[in-house]
Amino acid sequence: MKSKELKTIFITLVLAFASLTVYAQPKVVAHRGYWRTEGSAQNSITSLQKAAAIGCYGSEFDVWLTVDGVPVVFHDATINGIRIEDATYAELMNHRLANGEFIPTLQQYLLEGSKLEGCQLILEIKPHSTDQRDERIVQRCLELVHMLKLQKRTEYISFSKHACEYLHAQEPNAKIAYLNGDISPKDIKTIGLTGIDYHFNVFKKHPEWLTESQQLGVEVNVWTVDGEEALAEFANLKGIDIITTNDPEILGNIIKKSK
Ligand code: MG
Repeated sequence: MKSKELKTIFITLVLAFASLTVYAQPKVVAHRGYWRTEGSAQNSITSLQKAAAIGCYGSEFDVWLTVDGVPVVFHDATINGIRIEDATYAELMNHRLANGEFIPTLQQYLLEGSKLEGCQLILEIKPHSTDQRDERIVQRCLELVHMLKLQKRTEYISFSKHACEYLHAQEPNAKIAYLNGDISPKDIKTIGLTGIDYHFNVFKKHPEWLTESQQLGVEVNVWTVDGEEALAEFANLKGIDIITTNDPEILGNIIKKSK
């Protein structure tokens, strides 16, 4: 092949790659599942089913560990005044979510997720009161994920740096993103994590972290972006790989229209 032809092929490939990079659309993650819809509630099994039904890349959910070692899916540290990490599962199991469902165990949630191929399970490990408890919840989550063979379907996030680092040590191939917004992409890569999942204000303060992440291959997720205007702004911002939103259907429509 002549060098001129090779050059043409090379330029074509570079342009094709550049266009993919520039126009790559962010993935949609439903924050606490798709709950702003009929019959749903935050972190309910229904919210997971509804996130999958509208074609979300993933459904995010929060996990606490009870004192007797049962991981449960719930956002707040307390449910009806009971502190989850100090309660037994028996003390929690009859408490209901806003849509009438009982508080789900992680096992129930993941089991439903295993039937919803195509929707990633974005598992947030809530920061517990001690490092030992953080390690215990990581172990319990990994046991369940392995038991249900969901290693490739599960991605982890946490505000606890210790939980992230411990998880990485236990499961080196897992996708793990840190939530707290105070570590640069370079340092995230150094400690072995795969992504940053930061509040949108962090990227307003550190716009350079978008380019830096792209260069380092650190995945960028932004939370929690809601409403048509803000979603459109972040959907068009170069360097955002994932948007976590309470309005996944609105974001899905924005992305469809811009294609
Ligand atoms: Mg969460």
